[in-house]
Amino acid sequence: MSDSLLVPSASPTARGPSQPTVRAPVDPRLDLVAEIHRLRRERNAVILAHYYQAGEIQDLADFVGDSLDLSRKAASTDADVIVFCGVKFMAEVAKILSPSKTVLLPDMAAGCSLEDSCKPGPFKAFRDAHPDHVAVSYINCSAEVKALSDIIVTSSNAEAIIRQIPAGKQILFAPDRNLGAYLAKVTGRDMTLWPGTCIVHESFAERELAKLKARHPKALVASHPESAPAVLAGSDHVGSTRSILEYVLKTEAETYIIGTDAGLIHQMQKQAPHKRFIPIAGTEGPCACNACPFMALNTVEKLYLALRDMTPHLELAEPLRQAAALPLERMLAMSASIPAPAESAPATVR
Ligand code: SF4
Repeated sequence: MSDSLLVPSASPTARGPSQPTVRAPVDPRLDLVAEIHRLRRERNAVILAHYYQAGEIQDLADFVGDSLDLSRKAASTDADVIVFCGVKFMAEVAKILSPSKTVLLPDMAAGCSLEDSCKPGPFKAFRDAHPDHVAVSYINCSAEVKALSDIIVTSSNAEAIIRQIPAGKQILFAPDRNLGAYLAKVTGRDMTLWPGTCIVHESFAERELAKLKARHPKALVASHPESAPAVLAGSDHVGSTRSILEYVLKTEAETYIIGTDAGLIHQMQKQAPHKRFIPIAGTEGPCACNACPFMALNTVEKLYLALRDMTPHLELAEPLRQAAALPLERMLAMSASIPAPAESAPATVR
């Protein structure tokens, strides 16, 4: 990896002049939903939303999914504009895979604690200290860290991809230590872990889960592997957001305890209205929440403004984009056998 690609993540030379989030007042008389549909048609835009977005944004999206689904969608869409309702590293992935498209992020301040925990300089030193290892990075990292990695994974495909790495090869995993420890356990691979965590999943405490299980003894527990090992050990199912959604739809319990961002419950409740979903309350760490504060920065008003003004949009310097594309393309090739989800049903007439 060339040192010239190693620039601080906030550097304007690496990312181009990222623009501030538009905060113009919105006329309260406007029908924002109708306006968003009109602008989407006018701009030939596709709206992609992560499962952790607010329900009203998910309902406006053309496609709702997890990181793997959204990466595939970003790589294959023929729209001119991608409006990414998620966080910045996700919008970066869209730009890396679709460089000729305009990629809008309704709030450019929507970051991620995992990305923040793994800066390119220290990550490069980590790599340099382990020259014989394969560097596998979770998609929740900056374009610079992707450019320094061999393979990118998401929580949907990480296990399948790690199983494809030859048995004799040693593995570095960054930036999520909980996901890395879970993957080391299920694959039996010896992995050297970067010590990052997600502030949301890290806040789920074993004792909160124990309280909920005592109150709802017949409930099934489904958790995301970014959660702490003790929470995962107390779960009936561990998997990506899409896998958690599929699990609650295909199993027969009346009540589920959910160990991930509560935004996912919007889709669960839509698709299984007769079931009850209880989020684990976050009680520990700096976040102590069960809804990602970065994801919550996007709003319907900001989505409308982004489409109206075509800003803030994401730019990446071409050498960085190309270097970050390689491990992402490897990921897409290595996970080609994982089935894609059905298209999201349009919420309203477009
Ligand atoms: S939920 Fe955690 S990992 Fe996901 S975007 Fe928020 S801070 Fe990052």
